[in-house]
Amino acid sequence: MFLSLSKERARLTSTFSEAPIAKTPTAASIFDAHHPPSRELVDDCVHCGFCLPSCPTYVLWGEEADSPRGRIYLMRAGLDGRAAWSDGYRRHFDTCLGCMACLTACPSGVQYDRLIEATRPQVERHRTRSPGDRLFRAIIFALFPYPTRLRMAARLLWLYQRSGLRRLVHASGLMRLMPARLAAMERLLPAIDATAFRSATPTREPARGTARMRVGLLLGCVQRVFFAGVNDATVRVLAAEGCDVEMPGDQGCCGALALHAGRDDEASAAARRLIEVFERANVDRIVINAAGCGSAVKSYGDLLRDDAAYAERARAFASKCVDVSELLATLEPRATRHPLPMRVAYHDACHLQHAQRVRQQPRDVLRTIPGLEICEIAEPEMCCGSAGIYNLLEPATANTLGARKVGHVAATGAEALVSSNPGCLMQIASGLAAAGRSMPTLHLVELLDRSICNSPP
Ligand code: SF4
Ligand code: SF4
Repeated sequence: MFLSLSKERARLTSTFSEAPIAKTPTAASIFDAHHPPSRELVDDCVHCGFCLPSCPTYVLWGEEADSPRGRIYLMRAGLDGRAAWSDGYRRHFDTCLGCMACLTACPSGVQYDRLIEATRPQVERHRTRSPGDRLFRAIIFALFPYPTRLRMAARLLWLYQRSGLRRLVHASGLMRLMPARLAAMERLLPAIDATAFRSATPTREPARGTARMRVGLLLGCVQRVFFAGVNDATVRVLAAEGCDVEMPGDQGCCGALALHAGRDDEASAAARRLIEVFERANVDRIVINAAGCGSAVKSYGDLLRDDAAYAERARAFASKCVDVSELLATLEPRATRHPLPMRVAYHDACHLQHAQRVRQQPRDVLRTIPGLEICEIAEPEMCCGSAGIYNLLEPATANTLGARKVGHVAATGAEALVSSNPGCLMQIASGLAAAGRSMPTLHLVELLDRSICNSPP
C-alpha cells in the first residue's frame, strides 16, 4: 500500500541537498532560535508509516512529503540546513490540516501536534507568502476573533440572505466567477437569525435545584455570533444538570485560530486575557463546546511556558478546561431525558477525538437519551476538511474531504448529523447542500437540550 521508505527518502532528498543527516542541531538550521521544532521529538519518528492511511492529504495525493512522516522528515531537513524557505517547502506544511489523526495513529507516541505547532510560527516569520495570501489571512484575523466586528458583518450577511440577493448570486452563476476562497466563505455561511445580533447576554445562570458545581462557559467568537443557539442550549443543559454557570461578559477570543495558524503572539495575548477573566470568575471547571477552542485552551501551559508571570497560571487554567461532553459524562444525569426516537450519525471532530482524545464521552452522553440510535460513520478518523480556517485557505482540498465525509454520512441512513464543533457542522452542512441532500445538523448539546426540554428536532 505504501511506497517503500528508502524510495520515498530518495524522492525527498532529491528535492533538497544530499548532505548526510546530522545527529545534532546544526548552525545551518533554517529555523530561528524561538521554539524551533524539537530535534528530540523529530527523532521519535521511526518511519514506520502506520500514520499514513489516516492522513487526509496522503490519502488524497499519495505523496510522501504530504504525509506526517514526510513532514517530519522535512522538519529534520530544515534543522539540518538541507532545506530552504522555498514556496515548495512551505506548501507541505500549509497543506497539513492540523487534524492530528497522525497523533492517534502513531504507535511510537510521536508528538506531531507539538512539532507542527512549532513549525507553523517559523513559516509565518519567514514571510514567503504572496501579497494576496497575506491580505486574505490578515482579513480573517482582523474579523474572526472579534465578536463585535462579526456582529456587524452578520447584519450585512443577514440582509444578503434575506433580501434574495444570495439566491440571485447562486442562480446567476456568479459563484463560479468568484475567487475560490471567497466562494468557499460564501458556501459555508450558516443561516443567520436574530440571535447573531445580540450583544448583551446573561452573565450567570443558576443551577436548577442544589448546585453541584460552579462552571465557567467559554463563549467563543464565531460560536457566540453564528451559533448562539448552541451556547444557549449548553447553558440550559448545564443548569438543568445542577451547575451554576458563569459567562464572563468581558471574555474575548481564546486564540485557537491564531494558534493553529502559527500566529503565536496573537494566540499568547488572547490566552493571557482569557486566563485573567476566568481567574476573576473563580470557577471549578471551564466548559468548552467547540472542539478547536478546547484543544487550544488545554495547550495554554505549553503556549505560555516561557512567560514567568503566566506559565503557572496557564497550567492551572488548562487543568480546569473540559469539553462539555467530558463534564456531562462525569455527572450522574439529574434532568429527565425525554425520548427522541431517531437515528443520528455522530461525527467525531478531529480536535476532540485526536487532539483531546475525547471519543467515548460524547457517545455516553448521547446514550442517556431514550430511543436515540447512534450510527457510526465510516472512516471516523478522517477529517471533514473544516480544520479551523483550512476550508477557507485550501477550499479545493477541503471540498474533496467534505464530499467524502458527506458520502459516508449519507450511507448511514441517519435522519440527522450530530457533532461537537461548529466548524465541522458548517463544513458538513455545506457539503450536504452541495450534494443536494437535506439533513439537519446539530451540536450534541442542542440534541440533549431537545430531549431535556421534550422538544424533538
Ligand atoms: S495533522 Fe492531519 S493532515 Fe497533518 S500530517 Fe497529521 S494526519 Fe496529516
Ligand atoms: S509519525 Fe509515528 S506512525 Fe508516523 S512514521 Fe513516524 S513513528 Fe511511524
